[in-house]
Amino acid sequence: DAKDETLLSVRSVRKEFGGLVAVDDVSFDVGRAEIVGLIGPNGAGKSTTFNLVTGVLPLSGGEIHFAGERIDRLGPEKIAERRIARTFQHVKLAPAMSVLENVAIGAHLRGSAGLVAGMLKLDRAEERDIFGEAARQIERVGLADVMHRPAGTLALGQQRLAEIARALCVDPRLLLLDEPAAGLRHMEKQALADLIRGLREEGMSVLLVEHDMDFVMRLTDHIVVLNFGARIATGAPAAIQSDPAVIEAYLGS
Ligand code: ADP
Ligand code: MG
Repeated sequence: DAKDETLLSVRSVRKEFGGLVAVDDVSFDVGRAEIVGLIGPNGAGKSTTFNLVTGVLPLSGGEIHFAGERIDRLGPEKIAERRIARTFQHVKLAPAMSVLENVAIGAHLRGSAGLVAGMLKLDRAEERDIFGEAARQIERVGLADVMHRPAGTLALGQQRLAEIARALCVDPRLLLLDEPAAGLRHMEKQALADLIRGLREEGMSVLLVEHDMDFVMRLTDHIVVLNFGARIATGAPAAIQSDPAVIEAYLGS
């Protein structure tokens, strides 16, 4: 069964910022074609965990393995080349550029640096491929109508969808979504959940940070709960919902 195959393995990972332990000996796995929820109160260490997996921040301890390879010392560009893609809690689109142009950057680059120089060097055919792929992903997330508008004029929820489209352009094996449902209306959340389920159908793995518990509980195969940097629970959605330590953490926040 493909679901038994571990894709991402986070092993005793630790991150300190000065005296603050933001991620404290956290371990969890994400299997192939699995949707895993990473939840916890504000400041629990969820976004920091994303930054560790994607190589944006160096670890203070532990190891991260992806598809059998240790990746925690590769740096963000090499990690992106392994087809790990993400969205950000705080949207990072160029507001004056169109949605299409913003997403095309994702279709072009698989990392970060040198993108403007790279875009200028493209020949016509390459440019067509990139914009074609970007347009396909924009349609997929339901933003075809606003493709040519400046990204900054979109509602925040739509900007999050544009970031997902950009991440999808690299055909990720693992997609990290940081609060993708924030700012979406009910119908838009339903569409987003369907989209994420579709990605799983295709074999993609998704690690999802999200505050909307209903959304998380309906969508995920299993859940990891952080509180003050430490993993306090892990298991199936139904078990997590009734876990006393989890309830305590949320009531106390
Ligand atoms: P979450 O995403 O779960 O809300 P974060 O991972 O953003 O939490 O933050 C976890 C803790 O680490 C918080 O106390 C936050 O203030 C701190 N933190 C996050 N990033 C940094 C940073 N770059 N420098 C210092 N402290 C940070
Ligand atoms: Mg966060």
